[in-house]
Amino acid sequence: AEWIAAHGGIGNRLVVLAGPTAVGKGTVASYIRRNHPDVMLSVSATTRAPRPGEVEGQSYYFVDDAEFDRLVAEDELLEWAVVHNAHRYGTPKAPVERAIADGNSVLLEIDIQGARSVRRAMPEATLIFLLPPTWDELVRRLVGRGTESPAEQQRRLETARVELAAVDEFDHTVVNHDVAEAAQNVVDLMRPRARGR
Ligand code: 5GP
Repeated sequence: AEWIAAHGGIGNRLVVLAGPTAVGKGTVASYIRRNHPDVMLSVSATTRAPRPGEVEGQSYYFVDDAEFDRLVAEDELLEWAVVHNAHRYGTPKAPVERAIADGNSVLLEIDIQGARSVRRAMPEATLIFLLPPTWDELVRRLVGRGTESPAEQQRRLETARVELAAVDEFDHTVVNHDVAEAAQNVVDLMRPRARGR
């Protein structure tokens, strides 16, 4: 809290991108990582195992339960949550604080519980909700990526329905019709308002 007071006006320098499961948050974040190198993306810690192709320190910091416990106990996380009743995910606090103190913008791609925690910890943060073009399209994307069993897909769709109701808690919505366009809209929301466009 005293840190916020000391760094007032964090407005669009601490930006959260959240949205329901399978809406494409990860894809939009990866697109921003590749095409907008000026935007700093927070790298989360997680207790889940790396997937093929994921790189330690770029995709996530992959940690075991004991290390995650330590991060929580030593207050090194800005927020953390259990996602999909499975693993723990959290945002390391120090890099975010350093970026903002240096006058940079940082983007957090996290789940809706995480967005709420950030809102509580830092009310000035900008919260962006990524929406699917339609509900049917969300279902199509979740089933189409084929990474979850039918039972797990069903469970995530129920979660998504509940999560969509959180949209009113957010400052902005971006519809993910097209990844490049959605990424551009997110980046535009991160530009200092005073400078305009
Ligand atoms: P995945 O395991 O597919 O990479 O991510 C699963 C979910 O965890 C996604 O909805 C993602 O937004 C969320 N997530 C990733 N990192 C964090 C984090 O640091 N905090 C929170 N609260 N959620 C996260």
